[in-house]
Amino acid sequence: MFEGGIPPSLARTLRNARSVGALTGSGISAESGVPTFREAQTGLWESYDPIDLATPEAFERDPRLVWEWYEWRRGLVARAEPNSGHRALVELEVRLSDFTLVTQNVDGLHERAGSVGVIELHGNITRSKCSEEDRIVAPGATELAPPSCPNCGAPLRPDVVWFGETLPAEALKAATLAASSCDVFFSIGTSSLVQPAASLASDALRCGAVIVEINPSETPLSRGADYALRGPAGEVIPELVKSVYG
Ligand code: NAD
Repeated sequence: MFEGGIPPSLARTLRNARSVGALTGSGISAESGVPTFREAQTGLWESYDPIDLATPEAFERDPRLVWEWYEWRRGLVARAEPNSGHRALVELEVRLSDFTLVTQNVDGLHERAGSVGVIELHGNITRSKCSEEDRIVAPGATELAPPSCPNCGAPLRPDVVWFGETLPAEALKAATLAASSCDVFFSIGTSSLVQPAASLASDALRCGAVIVEINPSETPLSRGADYALRGPAGEVIPELVKSVYG
């Protein structure tokens, strides 16, 4: 059991909640072997800082380098499996009549675990889009890195939101609505540093929700959270589900 365990008052709150929202970040996929941006990269990529590769400027400067980094990450994600944290969130969704899952992750592991209606704030690494026309394109068989758009010839890029880019408006609107109307809001495996995702917890707090952080480390949200559960998501969320539903 992680240090401290699940407070009985939290189990009671969740049992009585009408509407629950959850925001996940890369920490929930760490136990599936997908590294967070703040962990050291390995192998070929150890000398690169991901925060310098996940930008439109990096793609403009060196599209091949950025595409190849995403190919490596796609390989990692394809080999990864959803973990007990992803699966426990599916159980929460099944048990609760009003549950909204919002993710900053681009790995699709929530969907592969069985979550339905996930709001993807930052896109999905498994899709590609035309860098000029902004439409989804399936790359054909080609040696080119990056492949070209079959329609206009512009380079394809991953369908993810890079640092400095705007989030998909519909997804952000739905996420903000869920955060502002829930009674309990979970912030799971996120550093609470990347905006505007981090402001969802502030929206929930302002609207009176009980804030629950699940993260082994302290974040800027910790002080304002009603509960800060210090442990890995893959242990804490299943324990939470067990403490509420047995
Ligand atoms: P982040 O790297 O900024 O922070 C990760 C957080 O997870 C940290 O606070 C860390 O303490 C915590 N953490 C580590 N292991 C954990 C565990 N086992 N259980 C719970 N928490 C754990 O990640 P972020 O806040 O998601 O923001 C970075 C950006 O990087 C996002 O935009 C995201 O789209 C992108 N990203 C996504 C993936 C992915 O899809 N898996 C991976 C890397 C980065």
